Amino acid sequence: MTQPAILISEVGPRDGLQNCKCVMATPAKKRWIAALAAAGVREIEVGSFVSPRLLPQMQDTPEIAAFARTVPGLVVAVLVPNLKGAEAAVAAGADKITLPLSVSETHSLRNIRRTHEQVLGEAKAISALLASLPPGRRPHFEGSLSTAFGCTLEGPVAEAVILRCAEGLMAAGCDEVGLSDTTGYANPAGVRHIIRAVRGVIGAQNLTGIHLHNTRGLGLANVLAALEEGITTFDASLGGLGGCPTAPGASGNIVTEDLVFMLESMGLSTGIDLEALMATRRIVAEALPEEELYGFTPRAGLPLGYQPAGRAGP
Ligand code: ZN
Repeated sequence: MTQPAILISEVGPRDGLQNCKCVMATPAKKRWIAALAAAGVREIEVGSFVSPRLLPQMQDTPEIAAFARTVPGLVVAVLVPNLKGAEAAVAAGADKITLPLSVSETHSLRNIRRTHEQVLGEAKAISALLASLPPGRRPHFEGSLSTAFGCTLEGPVAEAVILRCAEGLMAAGCDEVGLSDTTGYANPAGVRHIIRAVRGVIGAQNLTGIHLHNTRGLGLANVLAALEEGITTFDASLGGLGGCPTAPGASGNIVTEDLVFMLESMGLSTGIDLEALMATRRIVAEALPEEELYGFTPRAGLPLGYQPAGRAGP
């Protein structure tokens, strides 16, 4: 079988749960991750290595990451805010480490009390740590440009600053740079523009993934714009879990089920069995009965004659 065209990185267990009021019990997280993988999800961001005091939802990340490693073929991704987090991620055997760098320095200072220079310093320290590991055990290292399409504190961020941050992350030793619409401010024209601009300075091969939110309903339109620019990795969250605190009724991350439906219907394979994926919502609904689960496709059901990509009709 050929490799699916698009990689969907499921971020529900991290971005989704991090924004939930409740804490999902560790056994439920494990069941969910195993079910996602069984549905064909190949990469899952399983948690973040941050202070449990700040994010109690993430306190079991070491155990969850260790469990996820036992799931055959699964790429275990984690988010880390600094070198200390990266050390914990390496100890847990993560396959992929993402370090966010907020292009809005105001946001960076407010959120993690670090300037761009300081975050890039962490990136350098993490690269040095990874370089000290045997080649087969080095996690893939991504620097993610948060608030790349606008910030709730600064508004639009100057393009020159975004490009400087992208170059800084590559110079610090990241394997690649990702774009993140942390605030749900992006629109398709802006997505195209920023992808081209960032690729112009770091090279197309170093920008292959994007993290989009659906705060203003433009999530899938933004996916299409990014697809047409050649982006092949998309973050999404099952049921748009986590919601959006500033936009009631709106999902947080783009909804994985709707994303898979769009891509597969367009003939772009994801490797994910959509019905099996939708069935995993039950695990989340049972574990977090108070959380709203979003998604149009799960509500409407699959259309008559739905054909996933690569499976020709009779
Ligand atoms: Zn996010």
